[in-house]
Amino acid sequence: MITKKQIQGLPAYAPGKPIEDVKREFNLTNVVKMASNENPYGASPKVAEAITAAATETAVYPDGYGTQLRHALAEKHSVSEKQIILGNGSDEVIQFLCRSYLTAETNTIMATPSFSQYKLNATIEGTTTIEVPVRADGSHDLDAMLHQVNEQTRIIWVCNPNNPNGVAIDKETFFSFLKAVPDHCLVVSDEAYFEYVEDDAYPDTISLLDQFPQLVILRTFSKAYGLAGLRIGYGITSETIAQAVDPVRPPFNNNVIGHAAALAALKDEAFIQSCRQKNREEREKIRAFFEERGMFVYPSETNFLLIETGIPGNKLFQAFLEKGFILRSGEALGYPTGIRISIGSAVENKAFLEVAPSVFDSLSNEMR
Ligand SMILES: *Cc1c(COP(=O)(O)O)cnc(C)c1O
Repeated sequence: MITKKQIQGLPAYAPGKPIEDVKREFNLTNVVKMASNENPYGASPKVAEAITAAATETAVYPDGYGTQLRHALAEKHSVSEKQIILGNGSDEVIQFLCRSYLTAETNTIMATPSFSQYKLNATIEGTTTIEVPVRADGSHDLDAMLHQVNEQTRIIWVCNPNNPNGVAIDKETFFSFLKAVPDHCLVVSDEAYFEYVEDDAYPDTISLLDQFPQLVILRTFSKAYGLAGLRIGYGITSETIAQAVDPVRPPFNNNVIGHAAALAALKDEAFIQSCRQKNREEREKIRAFFEERGMFVYPSETNFLLIETGIPGNKLFQAFLEKGFILRSGEALGYPTGIRISIGSAVENKAFLEVAPSVFDSLSNEMR
């Protein structure tokens, strides 16, 4: 058996540790997962109703075109349904784009640290990924990224706000960048945390689609909508690009339950609004704790915070794990002494802030 060379030795995605494993390992009854940026408030109650109603429809294949969801999304965003790419999570849309545009002869450009799936999928296509370090404030260095563009560049990834640091790019910066990108190169604006963003300076990328047909916007139901377990994400782009990638999409890449849930979730804007508000209040409590301890917390427009603690990320991860909190070590995310914390519910964050001082005190003593 000879696997293709680009996947030999390629590490598989390392997910956040499952709650049940941690309970067993450390003999804990209560474990809080603050690692994968999921919505701690779950999903709109309308979602469970819709899933129950769809529960008897499992014997037939889903609508491969996703007609209803497409219509709902097209209406919500005032675009044509032909501009939508439905994916099994936006991860799958990233995969479609890589399969459709990248080859061994091309290259792709991303920021680092940023979301790992861009490079992974590019690597599988045999493509060179050019990684451009973020600036000291955590923002994409779009000028430096632009500088790397050549004839062979096919996709530039802009993760906005950026995972893992939560930092967003403002509209002026993004707009002048877009104007400077040559036509042969796609610009992907990954907006997985769009629903959490509150900064007025954040770009309204959908309004730019008419002017920039090479722009692809990624959104997902996995974060604020609370449907990570059902795998629905989508791209919004020009009809040309949506049509171009359609042949690589598996015929039934979303399922009946996911379609029903996403449709119901879209109808409950009040739920999203309330999650956004609670997230902000809770995030600022966590931020305050770390800033009071003199640690640098990246400005975040998302439901997670990246903190520079000065302590090796894996060490901190382990210490909190033993207390029943699953965080994300910065070590695998490009921040060796950082820790990424997904904002929990008020109860979860309170519990976290109760144990956090002693964890930090003992680790700082140990390091002295
Ligand atoms: C979570 C996340 C995604 C993937 O979400 P899906 O669950 O696949 O829709 C994409 N991009 C970023 C930056 C993310 O953080």
